[in-house]
Amino acid sequence: MITHRCTCCGSVVFFENVRCGACGSPLGFVPAEQRLVAFSVDAVGHWHRLGDTRGAADTAWHPCTNYLQEAVCNWMVPVTDGESLCESCRYTEVIPALADPRNRTYWYRLEVAKRRLLVSLRSLGLSVPSRRDDPVRGLAFHFVAGGATLGRVITGHASGLVTMNISEADDVTREHQRTHMGEPYRTLLGHFRHEAGHFFWPRLVGPTRWLLPFRTLFGDEQLPYDDALSAHYRRGAPPDWAQHHVSAYASCHPWEDWAETWAHYLHIVDAMETAAHWGAALGIGTDGTGPANQTVFAEPGDDFAAILGARWLPLAQFVNSMNRSLGHGDSYPFVLPQPVVEKLAFVDAVIRSGVAA
Ligand SMILES: [Zn+2]
Ligand SMILES: [Zn+2]
Ligand SMILES: [Zn+2]
Repeated sequence: MITHRCTCCGSVVFFENVRCGACGSPLGFVPAEQRLVAFSVDAVGHWHRLGDTRGAADTAWHPCTNYLQEAVCNWMVPVTDGESLCESCRYTEVIPALADPRNRTYWYRLEVAKRRLLVSLRSLGLSVPSRRDDPVRGLAFHFVAGGATLGRVITGHASGLVTMNISEADDVTREHQRTHMGEPYRTLLGHFRHEAGHFFWPRLVGPTRWLLPFRTLFGDEQLPYDDALSAHYRRGAPPDWAQHHVSAYASCHPWEDWAETWAHYLHIVDAMETAAHWGAALGIGTDGTGPANQTVFAEPGDDFAAILGARWLPLAQFVNSMNRSLGHGDSYPFVLPQPVVEKLAFVDAVIRSGVAA
């Protein structure tokens, strides 16, 4: 994630912020520019950009309905668009019942993670058609509560529809799940990244020249999926999974291996972009602005494995050391064996070829 600054006073602000902590200006994210902008509000309730406008015309804006009325969003919409919801909120088709106040908190967390995902995908040059663009396979999200009376809700992807069990947005429940399943890492953002991997497989790999190399690296995805999954939950991962996969779950089926590896790639790219924009040297650059993650990651001729070793590993070690200094566990609890490095390099190549196409 790039570093955001208040366009009115220049203070550092964060992607989720709705107001600058230093000058008090209302903030809104402008999707077309992929950055937070400070605004003033006129007498009729239209918002106008403050400070550095980068030459943009003084369009009137309004905050997404889910920003002002529901407090779960901070994205902006040009008044001339005639839309009430922002680009991001339009992907969400189902939200949990808000009569339960906890559900609003969960909804907020889900939307934040979803917005981070969308920004990452955009910065990688990946287009993300919505159901409006592609009614059959476009991307949509259903945020659903399960339970004794509501029935079982399984987080997953099917033909562009991502269903999220909102209990994943509850810290206690998710942490319980994580320890119960013996996972070192389980985050809401990680779930979004994982499901995005499933969304992109049939777009970038299935019908393309990448299918055969995919099978060589990840295995044959025609393996019966439901059988593989139930076998995984019955028997657990093979004892040597860590030598071949980024997570135990990735070992259950080539599609899950892909989704886990894809998610991991997005973790690394996003973290490296963040580091670059904060001016964390570690072999990247020190001017504080940082290159876009395409260039952080993939200069023509760059060897992906070499980038991981030279740039990512020192950064990951630094982040884990910081966490330990602050009394937390490792935020990056992973070791990458050679087969996983090769799979990550494959994801990198697929994404860059998709961008070029
Ligand atoms: Zn400010
Ligand atoms: Zn919105
Ligand atoms: Zn999956």
